[in-house]
Amino acid sequence: MVADCIFCRIVAGDAPAHRVHEDERTLTFMDLFPVGEGHLLVVPKKHGENLFEVEVEDLLAVMEVSKRMAHALRRALAPDGIGVHQLNGAAAGQTVFHYHMHLIPRNQGDPIALHGRTEGDPARLAELAVLISRALEPC
Ligand code: 5GP
Ligand code: ZN
Repeated sequence: MVADCIFCRIVAGDAPAHRVHEDERTLTFMDLFPVGEGHLLVVPKKHGENLFEVEVEDLLAVMEVSKRMAHALRRALAPDGIGVHQLNGAAAGQTVFHYHMHLIPRNQGDPIALHGRTEGDPARLAELAVLISRALEPC
């Protein structure tokens, strides 16, 4: 737990987030500034700044959950495609220095953007979190 890390604070329940899924190693929640409807972040609970620091077991856990989330997004929102990416270092565009995977549903013609500019509507984020978590299949 890193006290001034927003994702550590969300994991600990000290900061709010629209949570979608949690297991022993990972937490999935709605991105606060979504690039598109259903933009998710999957994070390891244990702090590691980026790909260089995070434990391999946590990477594998994040990847496994990302696949489940991709299926849930497809069932819940039926996007034309889903972008899955993560950034390492400020020079690569990383803005929160706690490893995380983005899952971004996209429709044909949507501009390719890494970051959203405006905060998502809280009621809609809450609705989407429920919709997506209900679309998760049991492991
Ligand atoms: P990065 O640029 O590091 O790959 O992505 C960080 C992501 O975290 C961005 O998409 C940004 O919108 C999101 N983000 C930043 N602060 C918060 C927050 O307090 N809560 C949530 N849910 N997402 C956040
Ligand atoms: Zn952290």
